[in-house]
Amino acid sequence: MKKILFVTSEAHPLIKTGGLADVSGSLPKALAELSQDVRLIMPNYQAIKPHGDVRFLCSLRVDNREVNILETQMPDNQVTVWLVDYPDFFNRPGNPYLDEQGEPWPDNADRFALFCRIAVEVAMNRAYLDWQPDIVHCNDWQSGLVPAFLSLETTKPASVFTIHNMAYQGLFPAASIQGLNLPGQLWNPGGLEFHNMLSFIKGGLIYANHITTVSPTYALEIQTPTFGYGLEGLLEYRKDYLSGIINGIDIDLWNPEADPLIAQQYRAASLPDKKLNKAELQRRLSLPVNNRVPLFALIGRLVEQKGIDLILDCLPEMMAMPMQFVLLGSGDKDFEQRLQNLAQVYPDKMAITLGYDETLAHLIEAGSDVFLMPSRFEPCGLNQMYSQRYGTLPIVRKTGGLADTVVDSLPETISDRTATGFVFNEANASSLLETIKRAMILYSDQKTWTKIQANAMAKDFSWQSSAEQYLTLYRSL
Ligand code: ADP
Repeated sequence: MKKILFVTSEAHPLIKTGGLADVSGSLPKALAELSQDVRLIMPNYQAIKPHGDVRFLCSLRVDNREVNILETQMPDNQVTVWLVDYPDFFNRPGNPYLDEQGEPWPDNADRFALFCRIAVEVAMNRAYLDWQPDIVHCNDWQSGLVPAFLSLETTKPASVFTIHNMAYQGLFPAASIQGLNLPGQLWNPGGLEFHNMLSFIKGGLIYANHITTVSPTYALEIQTPTFGYGLEGLLEYRKDYLSGIINGIDIDLWNPEADPLIAQQYRAASLPDKKLNKAELQRRLSLPVNNRVPLFALIGRLVEQKGIDLILDCLPEMMAMPMQFVLLGSGDKDFEQRLQNLAQVYPDKMAITLGYDETLAHLIEAGSDVFLMPSRFEPCGLNQMYSQRYGTLPIVRKTGGLADTVVDSLPETISDRTATGFVFNEANASSLLETIKRAMILYSDQKTWTKIQANAMAKDFSWQSSAEQYLTLYRSL
């Protein structure tokens, strides 16, 4: 059994701003189910609403600050959570990283440096908790200083650093190191310095024993200038200690056989029942109820990363085809406006819902035929996995986790029963449109379509298999 300290700045359902929270909610639980001893450590934000008891464990003095460690449990499982309680830094309204105006908190460097210091005290068993981890698993820049500080210790646990998105690096002006009391040996271009800025993520990338990303393809992509944001050289240098492990999904929450949020549950052997969800979706979105036209869908943040501009460029031609298109999302105001304008031109072919709606998201996954995900980059991505589980064939760009989880429908993959969707290479509208046409043609061959749906629905996207890969990694360190 391994003792694992999981260091994270957010965890669902306690607090969530993005995909990191989903991983932090699911992976420790899956490791615990593999009989590992996992403890999660995170800041005690004001917005955290613990469900069970919270008890005081100890007080520590670091950097002249008195910090408490509190203990609680994850609401839906027994994973122990240690909350780093320092009200001056964490007991504030707003989100973990941004104030109520959406600006980064001005003292973010101090806040997360303190969090890292405390995590190191716990990792070194100096926090009076009587627990010595074998592995310290850090996530994203907010915990990047943990491997850096650990590198200065003698007998220490092994460290893993997981990159959930290279676009966020925790860069701060050099002057911000003043208050941090950083050991001098860490401040150089081979350490935490990045073009005369303080880089938290470099702490993880340089000093962790092993680096992971959330998909094998993304692990390769971040070694190139397009995806590496200036750190591609460092990542290439560390490539022997860099690998990708795909995220799992919550297979209980996203299960077409038992989903309470859809009109009719179904399985691969009862695919005609899926059509009832299609009819319900068409009704709910005021589209003509028609079982024969393929229904294309997109759910997600309306930002350039997700290739929304490619969709906008394709839509006029898509609307000339016998299909319907539904979209649920929010994001850039310009994208929102252009989508709404088009929807007004084609009210009987497309429906746009702006906002965040978990219930509608489930019905869309269940009721659609094709799911569009033409992302420019995608560290892992979740919707393409949900879609396959719901027999909704994804069209994805060949990048990151999309490339790793969707198998293109080609004559060979159809005949060997590995095909699960459609994959295209170039991030431009004509490649996307060509793939949409390919899907339209295949849709007219319902016998083959149903076979591909069955392949997709049979795939294992559970956290258990991802957690097993992390465990293999921990054991190798
Ligand atoms: P990212 O983390 O980059 O936004 P992912 O595909 O990894 O993309 O995860 C996005 C998650 O958020 C999915 O679970 C998706 O269904 C959900 N989601 C995104 N936008 C919406 C929305 N408008 N309504 C409901 N769920 C949404």
